[in-house]
Amino acid sequence: MQRELEIIERLEKEQQIDLQGLEILITTQDEAAVGELAKRARETAQSIYGNKVYIRGLIEFTNYCKNDCLYCGIRRSNGNAERYRLSEEQILSCCATGYELGFRTFVLQGGEDAYFTDERICTLVAQIKKEYPDCAVTLSFGEKSRESYQAYFDAGADRYLLRHETANEAHYRELHPAEMSLKNRKRCLRDLKEIGYQTGCGFMVGSPYQTVETLYEDLMFIKELQPEMVGIGPFIPQKDTPFGDKEAGTMEMTLRLLSIIRLLHPHVLLPATTALGTIHPKGREKGILAGANVVMPNLSPVDVRDKYRLYDNKICTGDEAAECRYCMQRRMESIGYEVVTDRGDFIA
Ligand code: SAH
Repeated sequence: MQRELEIIERLEKEQQIDLQGLEILITTQDEAAVGELAKRARETAQSIYGNKVYIRGLIEFTNYCKNDCLYCGIRRSNGNAERYRLSEEQILSCCATGYELGFRTFVLQGGEDAYFTDERICTLVAQIKKEYPDCAVTLSFGEKSRESYQAYFDAGADRYLLRHETANEAHYRELHPAEMSLKNRKRCLRDLKEIGYQTGCGFMVGSPYQTVETLYEDLMFIKELQPEMVGIGPFIPQKDTPFGDKEAGTMEMTLRLLSIIRLLHPHVLLPATTALGTIHPKGREKGILAGANVVMPNLSPVDVRDKYRLYDNKICTGDEAAECRYCMQRRMESIGYEVVTDRGDFIA
């Protein structure tokens, strides 16, 4: 335990870790050390955000995608994916339902779908901001030009989520088709920051070919980028993808990494993701107790939930938005946390 404690203390006091320290923290079998890591991360989150958990309403507005990421169930080569896109009215109706339920952040997430031109996105964002000026709009639909990101921002978008997926070049190439590059991914993230978005990067835990070294590079990338948000969740295979028979990431590893990220970058908005809730029935609660402070219940219409299948066995596909909202509230209350309905901006 002594060895682990020294690493945890350095993380907490100096926000620093080295490769060897990371290896020890993610492989240690010492339960007391793992408990201590989560405890320090939880206390750090509480010192900044209290016992509050922010909720974001997730609207999965299209599963058409021009990309072909090897891990993702909505990749273009998946002929078994049943494609859909929501109309502007349907999206606005999700926002209306969400607003009634107390959501003050709407996250529009989807594949890279050419139907949603910059003009359509800008009109939509402006409309949402006009109807709900007290709400934040978060966008998450992949790699765009700087000009496009600027246009969405000028239309009123506040935040953008774009996981970097891995900060290691060779690993990036193993997860993506040849036409995609880590260089462009990083270019996008820097543009988003410079434009003024609250920006989120992140990665899957236990993605194929991930190593301690690539994870270390992910952490160093986070330190360098200084994102306002970091999204991590376990990799979960989707059977119609090239990684369909790869092993899933684990909850234990995800929890440790949530804690490490909290200590390394204390103010970050850190969700306990749906993927974490998918691999374990109490995954999201455990995520909060390991230092996460955001949850993202689903606001998508029930009839498309199952079609937005990035990975298999996704939870909550049969529940109405209201059920998800109150289920989440109960879950958070059960561990002594309070779901709050303000915008929940990054606290610098
Ligand atoms: N197309 C957008 C948003 C949709 S994908 C984008 O690329 O940003 C959102 C995230 O889901 C991805 O960043 C990826 O990290 C995660 N994801 C995709 N497939 C997954 C899988 N099989 N298991 C777990 N997470 C997955």
